[in-house]
Amino acid sequence: MGRYTEAVCRLCRRENTKLFLKGDRCNMAKCPIETGRGIPGMHAAKRVKLSDYGKQFREKQRLKRMYGVREGQFRVFFDRARSARGNTGEMLLQSLEMRLDNLVFRLGMAPSRRAARQMVLHRHIRVNGRRAYTPSMVLKAGDAVQVKDAAKSREHARKALEATESRAPCSWLSVDRKECSGVVLHVPTREEIAPVVDEQLVVELCSKS
Ligand code: SF4
Repeated sequence: MGRYTEAVCRLCRRENTKLFLKGDRCNMAKCPIETGRGIPGMHAAKRVKLSDYGKQFREKQRLKRMYGVREGQFRVFFDRARSARGNTGEMLLQSLEMRLDNLVFRLGMAPSRRAARQMVLHRHIRVNGRRAYTPSMVLKAGDAVQVKDAAKSREHARKALEATESRAPCSWLSVDRKECSGVVLHVPTREEIAPVVDEQLVVELCSKS
């Protein structure tokens, strides 16, 4: 599977949205979105108004980039959301939110989703007391996430938890900072997720194929 190795700020600049891909640095004044650096590329200024397809496509890219999901995996999540009962857009957002890497980030155990993904891949995380090394694993209400009881694992998580202490906690999660653990209280609603994308445009685009 390919891996994006360019500067991640370019992804935010392309979407003209803060996607919070760099942890603490995203809250600093030098974030390129805050400083007004526009879409990257020589001909960016010449780009014309977006068509309906263009708008749908950009929303999809924004969503994928925010959660760090590539096309194939995104399609799997979309198909699951479409076949589930309920509003497809909301189901899609919920299943992306309930990914293990996202939950590690939301719990404050990692500064960004990318760092959370790495923590999972490096086997620093346990789910319900068992080793978990699949970042795309979808958790459910009642599941417990814990950092492995090893000095190195806890050190990374503690640093991130300290840095995110002032961040408002997610209403659907409970965090135990001392134990470096957390529990999913319930599946978040759309309002709780407060997405930066219009997921209905994504559904419209993905439903065509
Ligand atoms: Fe870079 Fe973070 Fe700002 Fe995005 S939000 S442009 S990743 S500093």
